[in-house]
Amino acid sequence: LALAQPGVSGLHPYQPGKPVEELEREMGIREIVKLASNENPLGASPKVAAAIAEQSEQICRYPDANGFYLKQALSAILGVGGDQITLGNGSNEVLEILFRTFVGAGDEVIFDAHAFIVYRLLTQASGATAVAIPSQDWGHDLDAMLLAITEQTKLICIANPNNPTGTFLSKEALASFMSQVPKQVLVVLDEAYFEYVPVEERAPTVEWLAQYPNLCVSRTFSKAYGLAGLRVGYLVSSAEIADLLNRVREPFNCNSLALAGAQAALADQEFVTRSVELNRTEMARLESYCQERGIDYILSYANFITMKLTPADEIYQALLTRGVIVRPIAGYGMPDHLRVSIGLPQENDRFMAALDELLVEAR
Ligand code: PMP
Repeated sequence: LALAQPGVSGLHPYQPGKPVEELEREMGIREIVKLASNENPLGASPKVAAAIAEQSEQICRYPDANGFYLKQALSAILGVGGDQITLGNGSNEVLEILFRTFVGAGDEVIFDAHAFIVYRLLTQASGATAVAIPSQDWGHDLDAMLLAITEQTKLICIANPNNPTGTFLSKEALASFMSQVPKQVLVVLDEAYFEYVPVEERAPTVEWLAQYPNLCVSRTFSKAYGLAGLRVGYLVSSAEIADLLNRVREPFNCNSLALAGAQAALADQEFVTRSVELNRTEMARLESYCQERGIDYILSYANFITMKLTPADEIYQALLTRGVIVRPIAGYGMPDHLRVSIGLPQENDRFMAALDELLVEAR
């Protein structure tokens, strides 16, 4: 242990659950409903499987180390140069590359106390100091974040929408924030759930890159595109930052099947629209359910909803025995909440029926 880098021994490993098939076998339950990882319940576009099958004929070849075609497609959609894009093995990896490139011992990294856990992990692993800012109504307190900036601040991480709260920052709030951040401080806007935000409410974050050379925007194919298992994400930045990130990045970090799959997914926007529509109608059903039962929930702009359900641990276990997996988020400093991913209508029905049973029992 003593041989590890300074921040490493204090890290807690990511705690994945058992594979669903194994749980089904152990518990003797058929068809467990998994609403725990914010995955797309519709799966992925059928065009993805076809593209992967075709690409698999070339599996003996190394992938294109620069992801040329995927970057070309992304740059056409985003209106940026291919030299402004960094591809990663999931957006987690582009965040990791960003930290490896810029963050080290003595630096401070600012993020929200209930933000995506990876910011804290990467900060600790870098040997930097985490500056966690208390949330305001479970969302980012941008004014407090600005006040926390010091000479040592290297990076500010903002998830919008945030995981695990689903909270969202308006474009006005973000624009005002960006205008006040000193240029030597990097800001990463993590937009993993970007596609779920109504078009009219989205901030033009990629356009802001022209104005703010310290801004980075990360997105992923894991959520609305349904490719969580393939692992593809990307970060858009100035060409200067992308150049540095691409020096640090492993040359073949995105495998050839992932590149082909992501490209096919990007070309099927109709699938994304369908996914977002389903999310919207099912989210509305879950919100009504909570309102009718007096369950406190956090208004979410993402593909999950976080509810106050106490005692959360017991409710999580009881739902599990009824074949419904949700996500406890005590590790995010929210021991009284459970995060529930939006599933298919019948999956959400299963969740609501199981929770109803528990609520009746508790009475
Ligand atoms: N950012 C946020 C806010 C997330 O919730 C997630 C997924 N849990 C990620 C990034 C990383 O997703 P991926 O590595 O699959 O792109």
